Amino acid sequence: MTLRSTCICDGKLIGIESIFSVVDGMQINIPEKVEALRAKSKNKELYCPCGCGANLILVAGDRNLRAQHFRLKGGQSDKECEFVSEGSISIYSKIVLKCWMSDKYPDADIQSRVPICEVEDTDRRYEITLLAKNKGVAISYCHDRANLTDEKLDILDRNVSGIHLHYVCDVENAGIFAQYPEMMMKIQKRQGYCLFLELGFDDRGGPAYSQSKLKGVFYYHNDNGSWKELEIVSDYISSFDFGKNGGLLYSGKSLHSLKEQREQQYISELKQRRILQEKAREQHRIEKERRRQEAEAKRQKCLAQMEKQRASEAEAESERKEQHARELKAKEEREKAIRECTKEKIDAIIDDDQEHPFRDPAGKRWVRCEHCGQIFTEDNFVIYGGIHHANLGTCKECSKKCGIRSTSKT
Ligand SMILES: [Zn+2]
Ligand SMILES: [Zn+2]
Repeated sequence: MTLRSTCICDGKLIGIESIFSVVDGMQINIPEKVEALRAKSKNKELYCPCGCGANLILVAGDRNLRAQHFRLKGGQSDKECEFVSEGSISIYSKIVLKCWMSDKYPDADIQSRVPICEVEDTDRRYEITLLAKNKGVAISYCHDRANLTDEKLDILDRNVSGIHLHYVCDVENAGIFAQYPEMMMKIQKRQGYCLFLELGFDDRGGPAYSQSKLKGVFYYHNDNGSWKELEIVSDYISSFDFGKNGGLLYSGKSLHSLKEQREQQYISELKQRRILQEKAREQHRIEKERRRQEAEAKRQKCLAQMEKQRASEAEAESERKEQHARELKAKEEREKAIRECTKEKIDAIIDDDQEHPFRDPAGKRWVRCEHCGQIFTEDNFVIYGGIHHANLGTCKECSKKCGIRSTSKT
């Protein structure tokens, strides 16, 4: 059986939150409201909110506040009923918001789920969630931002002229990732900021006013086109008050001024960040330039080294060429000496020294034959050399004639 969070009583829609209040921070049932509803319940004056005509009874114990609801009176069938059940988060949120208003305005007559009759299209029934008319304050609660239409908001706005209407959404609707927060901007355009209710629970899982939080945020359009959700304030909902004109206050300051402050803070943070980024870029540029210069110096050093190497190689090459030229010259001189060292000259000098074998500049050894007196190179001798006899020998010719055997001496 579907539990109902609302009923029709005296032609008016009544939410279960209407029986809740707060005394000294404690969430309680309002005895008069409970008793009055109980009496109506007994007199079969509570009806299903869908209009099916089914009687409802109030279920409200003094132990478990979570279990408070309306339900179909026994023996009735709900087959004709078109009641669409409301999610528990939505019901609980309304209870917490009702407690908040009761806490702030203990003497006010707070109406809940005030229907708006202006809508001509009967399919769409809009309501103000909570209204403290004599205080000039109203709350419109929205569980799912997808239900926020400009038409609905326009109608709500029109119906609360002279009353400060606060739009509160479930916290699930908060949080964006750079995208344009289309739905929440509908509220921000009207209210200047968005309010999110973060439901708190008691140990039995029921809604707890003292544990519930309210978060004020606004969406800032960055220069790069992205959007940023900025938190203005977040605290227990009981720390928020209504000002003289019905506007929202936190720590005695209006949320508008806190929003202004937060926005300026964010802008200066952006500026500071930009300055830091600029500084970092400059630092990076300097570092890059330093590295470029370092690389250039290295390159120059390397070039100089290469130049030095080239010079030393050139020097070595030139030295090598000079050496080659010297060798060439020496060779030429030797060859010249050999050329100039004719047989006549050798003949003239070969007998002077019999201690050292005579060799011409080309290294060829010359010997005089002791028999025929002619000089030849050593290969023409069968025997030659010896102590005090270095340049004397017997030539092959004379050897044949004299029968001298081939025994070479040095
Ligand atoms: Zn019904
Ligand atoms: Zn001879």
